Amino acid sequence: MKIPFSPPFIDKEVIEEVLDSLNSGWITTGPKVKALEEEIKNFSNAKEVLCVNSWTSGAIMMLRWLGVQTGDEVIVPAYTYSATALAVLHAGAIPIMVDVCDDFNISVDAIRGAITSKTKAIIPVDIAGFPCDYDAIMDIVKSNEMRSLFIPTSDVQQKLGRILVMNDAAHSLGAFYKRDVRTGSETDVAIFSLHAVKNVTTAEGGAICLNLPAPFDNESLYTTLRQMSLNCQTKDAFSKSKAGGWRYDIVGLGMKINMADVNAAIGLAQMRQYPTLLIDRKRVFNAYDKAFSKYTWAITPPSVKDGKESSYHLYALRIKDITEAQRDDIIDVIAKKDVSVNVHFIPMPMLTFFRELGYDIKDYPQAYKNYACEISLPIYPQLTDDEVHFVINTVKESYETVIQAK
Ligand SMILES: *Cc1c(COP(=O)(O)O)cnc(C)c1O
Repeated sequence: MKIPFSPPFIDKEVIEEVLDSLNSGWITTGPKVKALEEEIKNFSNAKEVLCVNSWTSGAIMMLRWLGVQTGDEVIVPAYTYSATALAVLHAGAIPIMVDVCDDFNISVDAIRGAITSKTKAIIPVDIAGFPCDYDAIMDIVKSNEMRSLFIPTSDVQQKLGRILVMNDAAHSLGAFYKRDVRTGSETDVAIFSLHAVKNVTTAEGGAICLNLPAPFDNESLYTTLRQMSLNCQTKDAFSKSKAGGWRYDIVGLGMKINMADVNAAIGLAQMRQYPTLLIDRKRVFNAYDKAFSKYTWAITPPSVKDGKESSYHLYALRIKDITEAQRDDIIDVIAKKDVSVNVHFIPMPMLTFFRELGYDIKDYPQAYKNYACEISLPIYPQLTDDEVHFVINTVKESYETVIQAK
């Protein structure tokens, strides 16, 4: 049995939706993107949703819209995929990395301790699809203490009057951060990734959820940002293609990060079946939980707690009392049995680029601890129960081979 890590979900409905776009004569941004935005908006309860070509480009654009500049600080967890911090650097600000908790997510106390008068945004990350403590994080930025520390240096910052919270919801489409409240509506901005390995995909893509407080008008903000994602051109290709619609203007320095309809078609067909796909992810997650909770050496990941519920994006298994080298050995043994596993994540301070910028893993002990003993198991709707049992047995045998052999 050969088990890939995270193949995309492509069925007849997905293929038909893509063919529909190809046959329609319109393949770039148009009706399919609009339909996907509507699907995600209704599903997540965000006030507005704008689709772009990746999480990363969407995050850069939102930080530019916020008007961050040299010397400004944006707080991020040390334990995440690097795009979280790279977007901050691309936008011209400094990523201030803080440590995480045992549940993999950013420490709220560490956020509080890291805020300065230069802090312009916080990017919490819903690791593996398990939401952060947004009530606590929003309370911090809305507190009088933090509002009085805040020094706005752009019109948008002036209008907001406090630090922006922009959730990296790359993993958490479909998660609940509170009973009956899905992620996407919990923070000023939340961005889902629709990259090929994510729960819902457009091959490459991102969905920016807008929930800015008054006096912002999210509907007009959507229009502004949509234009910004198309080089700040006053007419998109779709309206320009209509007879007589040739004249346009460029009104600022935008980015070129729009999503194409042919991509949106994939996500559109997946979104229509996503509630069912989520149930299947949960089936796999629960089967792993049931099996591994019997072993004293296993630490199962968080899924349901205090009204929160994961989107079951990753199954981040941890193994008690092992070293990083032993974890690597276990993965080697698993790989020999044709099961693809992964590690989420190598903390950013351990990567060359960030190390050379001066970040040091010693400052993030919990991030290192989570990383050193973590193995992410395959989790996706197409996995059969037999395959899930094969993965479980493979992991158990590989653990025994490495640890009990020593
Ligand atoms: C995948 C991922 C991203 C980047 O998404 P792209 O759409 O590939 O830009 C950002 N943050 C996290 C936590 C991710 O896993």
